Amino acid sequence: MSGVESDAQAWDTLRLSVRSLAQELGLDYFRRVDQERTFPEQLFEQAAQAGWFGTLIAESYGGSAAGPAAASVIVEELNATGGDATAVNAQLAICGVLVRAGSEAQKQRYLPGIARGEVRCLSVAATEPESGADMTHLDSRARRDGDGWVIDAQKVFISMAQHTRLLLLLVRTEAGPTLFLLDRGLHGESLDARPIDMLVHRMTTMLFIEGLRVGDDALVGEPGRGIEHLMGGFALRRVLAASECIGSARFLLDKSLAHAKERKSFGRFIGQNQGVQYPLAQAYAHLEAADLVRWDALRLLEAGRDAGGRSALAKILASDALAETCRAAMTTFGGWALADELHIERKLRESTVFGFNNLLLSHVAQHVLGLPKAF
Ligand SMILES: Cc1cc2nc3c(=O)[nH]c(=O)nc-3n(C[C@H](O)[C@H](O)[C@H](O)COP(=O)(O)OP(=O)(O)OC[C@H]3O[C@@H](n4cnc5c(N)ncnc54)[C@H](O)[C@@H]3O)c2cc1C
Repeated sequence: MSGVESDAQAWDTLRLSVRSLAQELGLDYFRRVDQERTFPEQLFEQAAQAGWFGTLIAESYGGSAAGPAAASVIVEELNATGGDATAVNAQLAICGVLVRAGSEAQKQRYLPGIARGEVRCLSVAATEPESGADMTHLDSRARRDGDGWVIDAQKVFISMAQHTRLLLLLVRTEAGPTLFLLDRGLHGESLDARPIDMLVHRMTTMLFIEGLRVGDDALVGEPGRGIEHLMGGFALRRVLAASECIGSARFLLDKSLAHAKERKSFGRFIGQNQGVQYPLAQAYAHLEAADLVRWDALRLLEAGRDAGGRSALAKILASDALAETCRAAMTTFGGWALADELHIERKLRESTVFGFNNLLLSHVAQHVLGLPKAF
């Protein structure tokens, strides 16, 4: 048996428990959350009860330290069951910044509550209206004022800022890009998050902060090293994004195969037509290839090795495979692909958020292929 097969089998129990939790909630639950643009409270509570949020947190801080592969299987399987793992993925992974760069006091104060799901740590605020993807040119600032800092920031596309207790904010200080940990319990009145209407339900907001005073205890890591502290978790975030893509693609493929075998048109099953079969077979081929690279990236992460290049490939391949599966599902379902009752339409929309890969391609070009630095 290959390593990948044995890995896959080892996770079967976890897969079954995620699947049964998502199936109990039901597809209509996820459709309602999407349509009503609400936070998936019930999913979040049940995930907390199942102990998932401690997956990437050490036992000494109340976690299970089950590791990256367990986190990957959780978010994959949620999506494969037709759910949306957005909030679960965020709570699993964003606290990684605190694990890596937080002070001992921050870890002791917050990690146990995050592991239990009582403290929501769902948001990173980095993107700005002007600088977009370029985190090195930030307009948002924190200036030294006596023994503390005064923060003025404007951020855009910040997911779940209205639902999180903890928010990691990247701003410029004299030392360079710097991370602060804001706690709604302490700073909530100064966090003005306004929803942005979007194609997808990511609970995305514009965030305005004016004249917020915080102490040194809100600093995460060293001033000037904020991007580095964030990037330390990028390999894991990419693998989790790849896992979400693979899960959603499996959901679409399973639904499409069932439909292709049941639906008759022109007096025969539509799955008998090569025009329907080939896109499904092609999508399946690319999905399986992406899954192998995802497990290879996980192998490196689990071993504590550099997974930068492999995780970028996993995300690129998995999001491409998802896009291809979306097209195949549209061919298979015809008009029904766009009707919300079959949940295909929702997955088509959700899949769009994974399609932005330019900076990952730059990473591969520079760090894997040795091409000149692009920016
Ligand atoms: C649903 C959703 C949720 C999000 N959630 C968050 C969040 O929680 N926190 C957060 O901080 N951000 C979040 N973002 C922001 C996301 O990270 C940004 O969209 C991204 O950083 C790019 O910024 P921009 O959209 O302003 O694009 P721009 O920076 O204006 O770029 C536009 C396009 O040009 C490409 N491009 C730019 N420069 C280069 C280059 N040098 N080489 C090649 N291509 C380039 C980009 O890849 C992009 O495709 C979210 C975005 C979306 C859509």
